[in-house]
Amino acid sequence: MTTDFAATRAAFVLPEGIIYLDGNSLGPLPKAAAARVAEAVEAEWGQMLITGWNKAGWMDQPARVGDRIARLIGAEPGTVVMGDTLSIKVYQALASALEMNPTRRVILSDTGNFPSDLYMADGLVRTLGDGYSLRTVAPEEVLDAIDETVAVTLITEVDYRTGRKHDMAAITARAHAMGALTIWDLAHSAGALPVELAGVGADFAVGCTYKYLNSGPGGPAFIYVAPRHAEVARPALSGWLGHESPFAFDLGYRPGRGVERMRVGTPPVLQLAALEAALDVWDMTNMADVRARSIELTEAFIKGVEAACPALTLASPRDPASRGSQVSFRHPEGYAIMQALIARGVIGDFRAPDILRFGFTPLYTTFDDVTAAVRILAEVMDKSLWDRPEYKTKARVT
Ligand SMILES: *Cc1c(COP(=O)(O)O)cnc(C)c1O
Repeated sequence: MTTDFAATRAAFVLPEGIIYLDGNSLGPLPKAAAARVAEAVEAEWGQMLITGWNKAGWMDQPARVGDRIARLIGAEPGTVVMGDTLSIKVYQALASALEMNPTRRVILSDTGNFPSDLYMADGLVRTLGDGYSLRTVAPEEVLDAIDETVAVTLITEVDYRTGRKHDMAAITARAHAMGALTIWDLAHSAGALPVELAGVGADFAVGCTYKYLNSGPGGPAFIYVAPRHAEVARPALSGWLGHESPFAFDLGYRPGRGVERMRVGTPPVLQLAALEAALDVWDMTNMADVRARSIELTEAFIKGVEAACPALTLASPRDPASRGSQVSFRHPEGYAIMQALIARGVIGDFRAPDILRFGFTPLYTTFDDVTAAVRILAEVMDKSLWDRPEYKTKARVT
């Protein structure tokens, strides 16, 4: 199937006059989501009340939706389940992986990782005590740092700031050769580029759905457990819906079948309904087309900005094969420049200390968007339009 990007673009609400280059942080609203959520609210919650758990299939929804995500990340059917936030899923994967490698005490991550992943690891290390530690190395040193002390690697494939992409196959192979398990964070990969979890033999993976997958603010995360581990991994967050038989109300915990044991509590039914509508758009795509177009869009943007804005320095890898689906530039006044851009309808975001970040999401970003964004950015730079006090006051969310 070849992807019809005009049709996918038509499936989103894209406000007039806005060039949206922040779908790597919060995807836009799929047109069908409003009606799908309204149906879940009115016809299911409103009319079925508690019988919706069975009649509307709410109880099966986390696994049913997980299977649709599995297709996008190269995972086997029945290996992905939805729920909670990504930070929680990181904790859960880490706790299980550490327990599966009991003679080792080191979690290996890198300094390019998203801080929440590192904070969660740090919190778990404190809870466990017993000699556990988190070791962070520079991203380019990860491969060499995997030695016989490492219990588990916790690596985010695509760097949230620069878009730099790790070699998932090489790191997974090295980890396994050294007797370590791998956890891949796919926050900036799922829906951004092809991922082959089964192909590389990943052990665990986690990711969120409100970025490239367009589930909306607060959309639930996913967790993947390789089939060879699914009956072995013990959930640290052993909530009732991960129990083998929640409605037996046993006093003792018994993990549920396969990845379902990674469920914790009541699933976010309404938010999952929005995600189901978003995944209908993904059903119109194949990831090879998405990746090819993402590379064309990012290459065009880099070329345009470098020609028109010499004061901006490329922070992303120049080689598209080493890059996710975002492009970042550095400038000491990055925050003010981004506010000036947003005021002119070009929405990207800013990441401290000096990164202007632009996401390219082929489902709805066009080459005309790229051309217009470059033109507006060049005008902001040429005329120093960013140099105004109102663009320099930092908001709570940047
Ligand atoms: C976006 C992101 C998060 C956010 O976690 P939440 O718990 O969903 O807020 C965590 N890790 C990475 C790598 C991210 O990119």
